[in-house]
Amino acid sequence: MKKLMECREKEILDVLGKAGYEAYFVGGCIRDAVMGRDGGDVDVATNALPEQIIDVFSSYRVIETGIKHGTVTVLVDDIPVEVTTYRSDGTYSDGRHPDSVEFVKSLEEDLARRDFTVNAIACDAEGNLTDPFGGAEDIEAGIIRTVGDPEKRFREDGLRIMRGLRFAAVLGFEIEEETALAMARNKGLLKEISVERIFVEFKKLLAGEHAGNVLRKYVDVLSDVLPEIVAMKGFEQHNPYHKYDVLEHCIRAMEAVVTTAENATEMKMVALLHDVGKPDTYFMDDEGIGHFYGHPKKSEELVRGILQRLKADKATLERVTTLVRYHDLIFDKDERLLKRWMNRLGPEVLMEILEIKLADNIGTGNMSPELGRKFADIRDMMADILAQEQCFSLKDLAVGGNDIIALGVQPGPEVGRILAELLEAVIEGECENEKEALLARAKHLC
Ligand code: ATP
Ligand code: MG
Repeated sequence: MKKLMECREKEILDVLGKAGYEAYFVGGCIRDAVMGRDGGDVDVATNALPEQIIDVFSSYRVIETGIKHGTVTVLVDDIPVEVTTYRSDGTYSDGRHPDSVEFVKSLEEDLARRDFTVNAIACDAEGNLTDPFGGAEDIEAGIIRTVGDPEKRFREDGLRIMRGLRFAAVLGFEIEEETALAMARNKGLLKEISVERIFVEFKKLLAGEHAGNVLRKYVDVLSDVLPEIVAMKGFEQHNPYHKYDVLEHCIRAMEAVVTTAENATEMKMVALLHDVGKPDTYFMDDEGIGHFYGHPKKSEELVRGILQRLKADKATLERVTTLVRYHDLIFDKDERLLKRWMNRLGPEVLMEILEIKLADNIGTGNMSPELGRKFADIRDMMADILAQEQCFSLKDLAVGGNDIIALGVQPGPEVGRILAELLEAVIEGECENEKEALLARAKHLC
């Protein structure tokens, strides 16, 4: 809480207070401060009306974000802070948007419209909490519980079901029993929610440290929006390589995958979805062993469908489907093989495939220590190729198209063929990556 009291944004509370208005930090920033976590944005609730907020902050940069909903964004040293007038949401006839929002007089009424107790705490400029629904106690106990009757709250806004799962995954909290039961009973409401909003929450859920446990317990809640994931649940593999059913295997892969800050969400998505095509490709041989021939391609197809349905951006769609398609790629401690794949897919993608493949093996529950060492060696080998700037693609080659044309070759596909053969010779170690040697070789290829 101390950190929150010292943040730049507190100026907003002070300015509103000096102007005679009530003003509180509310929502996620209080939850995170009570937990001692570094939070994201801070939100402010006030009894000032939107026009009054604009007036008070006339010397600040202000963006009229959602005047109709009572929200004005005020910039403090370029930090955007959403300042929202106390409001209660009207009825939700479509389970998505309040038909109207009504400005209300008291902070308590504003807190009552909020989704979960842990999100319904306010804090004034002195650091005093207003917590009418026992949010701090629920944070202490690690519980996600709706403010008021969960049935009613989910029916007002079905997205809260996804938000509840997301908070459980990010915070590592348990979902209170009545809240969890109401999520299951009302999961069909998610069909009415915009896919974009669902996808945002799903990505945040996956990024959560405890996503695996939430999926183990509550995957059925996703049956209307992500039925492909639910289909993996309980699907036994009958294969000696695998200890777990398909979903548990994928969750373990997701928990094991090594990621960077930039690729974490995508990599977890790939790990969770890489075997989504298994139920459709399963067959059992005469010995009673299960096989899934062609499942990477089937998984790719299904994942493409899922991401198109969720309106994922093109870059995410391409990256995730590529990694799913190649998740079964055969890796060996063979520099030439690695360079060919680095050329074909790009070194970054290949490194990610390696990490997915490692996670896939860990997720079987049967990975041998030798295999772990082999992965580490391959990772080192790729890192060395990159660090030493060894040639594995046309752009690394010491000759280019113009050099080949200068030898008298007609511009066109013939130039490409010769360059490709030269690259192959360099990768094979048959020719140094030096201009003279390459041109001498090229003369034989013309
Ligand atoms: P984070 O910013 O970390 O994602 P947050 O709790 O701040 O989490 P926001 O989506 O920023 O979540 O919303 C701010 C606050 O607004 C929430 O803490 C909650 O009190 C309220 N809120 C947001 N969405 C809803 C909703 N669908 N129904 C009810 N209250 C909501
Ligand atoms: Mg927030």
